[in-house]
Amino acid sequence: MSTRRGFIKCMVGLGASLLPCNGWSDLLMHNSQPAQASFKNLVPKKPPALNFNQDITTTYLKRTAMDDILALSQQEFEGRRAGSLGEEKAAAYLVDQMRGLGLDPLGDTIENQQRNYSHAFTIYPVLEEFSYGRLTFLQGDPSSLRTPSANMIGGLLGTNTDESVILSAHYDHLGIFQGKLYSGANDNASGVGCILDVMRRLLREGLKPKRNVVLAFWSAEEMGFVGSHSFLKDPTIMLSGIQAVFNVDTVGNGPVGEFAFWANNNNRAVQAVQAAVSRNKAKIMLAPNNGHNSDQLYFNLEHIPAVTLMSRDWLYKNHTPEDVPSFVEPQKIALACDILYGAVHELAF
Ligand SMILES: [Zn+2]
Repeated sequence: MSTRRGFIKCMVGLGASLLPCNGWSDLLMHNSQPAQASFKNLVPKKPPALNFNQDITTTYLKRTAMDDILALSQQEFEGRRAGSLGEEKAAAYLVDQMRGLGLDPLGDTIENQQRNYSHAFTIYPVLEEFSYGRLTFLQGDPSSLRTPSANMIGGLLGTNTDESVILSAHYDHLGIFQGKLYSGANDNASGVGCILDVMRRLLREGLKPKRNVVLAFWSAEEMGFVGSHSFLKDPTIMLSGIQAVFNVDTVGNGPVGEFAFWANNNNRAVQAVQAAVSRNKAKIMLAPNNGHNSDQLYFNLEHIPAVTLMSRDWLYKNHTPEDVPSFVEPQKIALACDILYGAVHELAF
């Protein structure tokens, strides 16, 4: 969640495999050549072809949303601040999961028409501010050097590859500030875990969707929806074919059956979520913004049906060091996954 105002040599040993990655920090001095090159080692040399229930590693399929939440909240990821080493490690984690599940890379096109999982962009520096006890970012000096960052995008292709249903969640958070780790277990490792979990469930079923089911992990949401906005300015998926965007942000706290949403109209994505909520005997309300928003915003402004699903009480302990895995309720995560699964199934199959 964000206010409106608004990678280095590493080894990641989570999940199953070790991923070598060269960093994006070398590029900080080359303003005219932003982040694309820094993600080269996150590109699978040969993206695995999707053979339903054959080439998919069961280790990856067996993981749960809570596994992802626990992993991404660890100290090693340093609070996943956009443009940081911690965020690059989180990006490598997401590539590992998407590759392990056999998803097609749907980010930037590089040489020989090969696709990357990453969609590169750059961010301005930010200033930290405490507002009502929450740590937030204000935009810093726009004339300063920009820092590379990237969205991570992959998907399960449908029979009609021109049309897509997007499941999205921002994977960045606030980092480490004044010696305190902001691990962002709820904001928004919870959303990341949920959308990965829905994809794992679809893959376990082994049915080919009619439309592409795309996972989009946005970066720099906490800096003013910079990642999702950059995607809309430089899309890697045909925007006119997007049927719905189901964005998930801070979905794991508060009473289990109580959800809220943000959207600027009663669009197709809102209706699909509301129907799935009612099938699961849960409750959902349109939340007031009060200066807050999430990554559905710029999609709505482009008249693309989009909704953000969140916990009704999302603001509680939000942007504090207390947003840790024990604050996330596994039952609520399971229900959020059921709701999302239902909404995606309605529009993609
Ligand atoms: Zn946030």
